Amino acid sequence: TDFKSDKQPTWCPGCGDFGTMNGMMKALAETGNDPDNTFVVAGIGCSGKIGTYMHSYALHGVHGRALPVGTGVKMARPDIEVMVAGGDGDGYSIGAGHFVHAVRRNVDMSYVVMDNRIYGLTKGQASPTSRSDFETSTTPEGPKQPPVNPLALALASGASFIAQSFASDALRHQEIIQEAIEHDGFGFVNVFSPCVTFNDVDTYDYFRDNLVDLQDEGHDPNDYEAAKEVILDSDKEYQGVMYQDENSVPYHEKHGVTEDMSEIPDGAPDDAMDLVREFY
Ligand code: SF4
Repeated sequence: TDFKSDKQPTWCPGCGDFGTMNGMMKALAETGNDPDNTFVVAGIGCSGKIGTYMHSYALHGVHGRALPVGTGVKMARPDIEVMVAGGDGDGYSIGAGHFVHAVRRNVDMSYVVMDNRIYGLTKGQASPTSRSDFETSTTPEGPKQPPVNPLALALASGASFIAQSFASDALRHQEIIQEAIEHDGFGFVNVFSPCVTFNDVDTYDYFRDNLVDLQDEGHDPNDYEAAKEVILDSDKEYQGVMYQDENSVPYHEKHGVTEDMSEIPDGAPDDAMDLVREFY
């Protein structure tokens, strides 16, 4: 698609991030976006490189801090498409605080998390979503604590759109990302994106064997109670849109942020300095 840059990804061959990114690029194109109106913000980690591999405006940010940057971009330019990408370590550990607040602000952007249940870039340590018995070099007997459930964290924080997809199920993954983009508010998608180098438990085969598509189960994402049930069901690996608030009003509409605010108004620095002087 137009969204593919000329940079060759340095991800390991077979990494789930390839499939995740392909779906993101196709979903952006399919929803009528083009590189000129799209801003991709990434954090740090293997996933963080995505802004280089995609052809759009992009910022490769600070670890765990991609969401506040994305929020700032959307507030300054509500007219453009903002997509934030990151990994499970980036988003649910150092970035967990930002995640909660981005969710409750309901800023109109999508957030795609490449969840491989491990720290890949730093060579295989347990991440927030690693299983409690997952043995790594730094947790030889497993982390011994239950993994974070990012979907439940989102629901508890007042999310208006919660979904999950599998990088290898190309068509469904793309459809789900499209729904997140089209949602009026914060579109959160947790993507099973296997790390073929450091995670031999949460593999493609594991997800292929265990994935349950909510579309086949007759799940109604507008039903909050049904959403809660699937989100809290830790025995299954669900794919699909779990929850969507039909009455969601995005932050910029709710608070009247409708103008292009990227230009600093005349006199703003002086006014700001007057305020500072007054304060002190
Ligand atoms: Fe992908 Fe894992 Fe390689 Fe990182 S280390 S590029 S997550 S396979």
